[in-house]
Amino acid sequence: MIYLDHNATSPPRPEVAEAMMNALHRAHGNPSSVHGPGRAARQILDEARRAVARLVQVHDSRVVFTSGGTESNHLAILGVLDRATAPGTVITSAVEHPSVLQPCDQLARRGFRVIRLPVDESGLIRPADLQEALDPSTRLVSIMAANNETGVLQPVAEIGALCRAAGVPFHCDATQWAGKLPLQADAFQADLLTLSAHKFGGPKGCGALIVAASLRLAPQLLGGGQERGRRSGTENLPGIAGFGAAASLIASKVDSEAATITALRQKMEQGLLKTIPDAVILGAKAPRLPNTTALALPGVDGETLVMTLDLAGFAISAGAACSSGKNTPSHVPLAMGLDHELTRSVTRISLGWDSTEHAVDLFIQAFHRSVDRLRKGSHFA
Ligand code: PMP
Repeated sequence: MIYLDHNATSPPRPEVAEAMMNALHRAHGNPSSVHGPGRAARQILDEARRAVARLVQVHDSRVVFTSGGTESNHLAILGVLDRATAPGTVITSAVEHPSVLQPCDQLARRGFRVIRLPVDESGLIRPADLQEALDPSTRLVSIMAANNETGVLQPVAEIGALCRAAGVPFHCDATQWAGKLPLQADAFQADLLTLSAHKFGGPKGCGALIVAASLRLAPQLLGGGQERGRRSGTENLPGIAGFGAAASLIASKVDSEAATITALRQKMEQGLLKTIPDAVILGAKAPRLPNTTALALPGVDGETLVMTLDLAGFAISAGAACSSGKNTPSHVPLAMGLDHELTRSVTRISLGWDSTEHAVDLFIQAFHRSVDRLRKGSHFA
């Protein structure tokens, strides 16, 4: 099976599995215990925290370990808004992940005003729209760094600067950016930054929220007061050890890996467009992650194409695989102005650390054959 679905989840790197096994076997203690086994576990926890902090270039006291991107987004949004003394406004965008949109919907039911900024046909928000929406009632802005379905990169530094000037906390969901491009939390001017380990070769069920030193959050999990009271619960030590290993590994080679993957993707896109000239790459004119291609294919059902390719030995996804099982068209292409039918045709190919040129060559041929067969099938149906 050739795996081209790294935005859904990226297979753990060998060093990650090793670090996790080490934590399982050698550090069975509770990091909060004062005895030897507890201290051994604490050491692993502290090392991983330093590695994650280094990845985003912040002090390690700002790292709050969580169970992944979804929990980090909840902690950021609800953690800020639960402290608001009066309802106000939350600004987000039309293309966010459901783990941002749904807590915002919950806030709307509690009386907050929620503004979903629109995007243009490239999937980009216009900073001028944000500027216009910011007012004294704004309590939080939550805009993602990179879109999971298209790879489109938002102008995050500009967004962060506008929020800073307005004195409004800025939460940035960097789940898809981290590990794929260099990431400096302070260059984004983000007060809250979401990370998830499994999107760049770490384990599933483990992530972090990077919190500005000056920001107080209402914890969403209460109990033993771990993570400086910001997230209670005995830490997922093997997961965190794997997260730390993935973070230190990628910190040293994110530039070279991004360059390799960009070259592979260029080759793949050229090959796909040559054999299927009417395919449309979503966000082609916008800055994008090195690894992601979302393709709209007139007259083809995306889900059927994914299944056809699966039988041929290739794993890709239709729209957002992380919320798969749903048969509603994705909100992201719709927000970019695609109609329902074209939206249903969208497939996403996301390369990663284990992708090879040979795999890409085989994929181009298989993709072409599958699209051809489906189109001929629907023509005669
Ligand atoms: N945000 C984005 C942009 C994502 O792509 C995902 C994962 N699909 C999440 C949040 C949720 O992350 P996790 O799977 O770690 O909960």
